[in-house]
Amino acid sequence: MIPAEFDYVAPETLDDAIAALGDGDREAKLLAGGHSLLPLMKVRLAAPELLVDLRRVPGMRGVQREDGTLRIGALTRHADLQGDASLGIWSIAAAQIADQQVRNRGTIGGSLAHGDSASDLPTVLVATEGTVTLRGAGGATRDVGADELFQDYLTTAVGEGEVLTEVRVPALEGWGAAYEKFTRRAEDWAMVGVCALVRRGDDGTCADVRIGLTNMGSTPLRARAAEDALRGQSLSAEAIARAADAAAEGTEPPADLNASADYKRHLARVLTRRALEKALA
Ligand SMILES: Cc1cc2nc3c(=O)[nH]c(=O)nc-3n(C[C@H](O)[C@H](O)[C@H](O)COP(=O)(O)OP(=O)(O)OC[C@H]3O[C@@H](n4cnc5c(N)ncnc54)[C@H](O)[C@@H]3O)c2cc1C
Repeated sequence: MIPAEFDYVAPETLDDAIAALGDGDREAKLLAGGHSLLPLMKVRLAAPELLVDLRRVPGMRGVQREDGTLRIGALTRHADLQGDASLGIWSIAAAQIADQQVRNRGTIGGSLAHGDSASDLPTVLVATEGTVTLRGAGGATRDVGADELFQDYLTTAVGEGEVLTEVRVPALEGWGAAYEKFTRRAEDWAMVGVCALVRRGDDGTCADVRIGLTNMGSTPLRARAAEDALRGQSLSAEAIARAADAAAEGTEPPADLNASADYKRHLARVLTRRALEKALA
């Protein structure tokens, strides 16, 4: 439970942080909220030689609204999202992450860069079809969409020497939103989670729908078959139940200590129905 020895710096600018990451041959890691990295270091599944703490870098925390887009700084904490109901699904999902202590420290950038498929915010990014901005050496920046960011379990497109600086997502005004999460104990990680976003058309049918799945594979997934089954259809209880039945199609969830793959598929179907109903309520 004691990490291997490491050096620590806390630069005051983003460029200095990026420079520190690429400084020498040492394995360097960024530190944001520390609530994924430090537990790994304590059990020595990670042993970086240098920690580059982002906490003094200005301008990376908070949310701005611009022409229907939310721009969320990477150092925005789960508690910041939780506390702002106008952020819709981000606020709803952030409120369900762990306990208040974790939410007070953990950041959106850390959660997305870490890429744990049992985490809640990656699923929201996939469902909202958001984009992250990555900045590397020499000020080079690139934008990466949610469909390319999550590559495998704990593997993302964030390169060594890059900092995830910002998250950009459509505000999805007029959409109903819900996040349903099943846990064995209160405040636990998701056994399965479902993010549902639904836009009701003027005629009362489903104009559009997006469904994201947490912990149903090595990355967050979209339940495309369920979306296709509901889009353009009536939003009756029967139509929602039919669509939810397709939620696990094409998924291969890993069995773990809490649940078999079949039980996770069952949860995905049940939680999708509940999330769709809640999003429409
Ligand atoms: C007891 C406990 C329960 C938890 N339960 C949940 C849960 O139910 N749901 C959930 O979603 N999460 C859960 N978490 C994880 C929590 O949300 C983490 O805070 C989050 O996943 C990581 O964010 P962080 O800011 O703490 O990142 P850190 O731990 O600081 O960093 C994580 C990784 O991302 C990298 N990184 C951090 N910031 C950046 C950046 N800006 N650019 C590039 N790379 C970066 C780091 O180098 C590191 O590799 C839990 C954590 C704990 C300790």
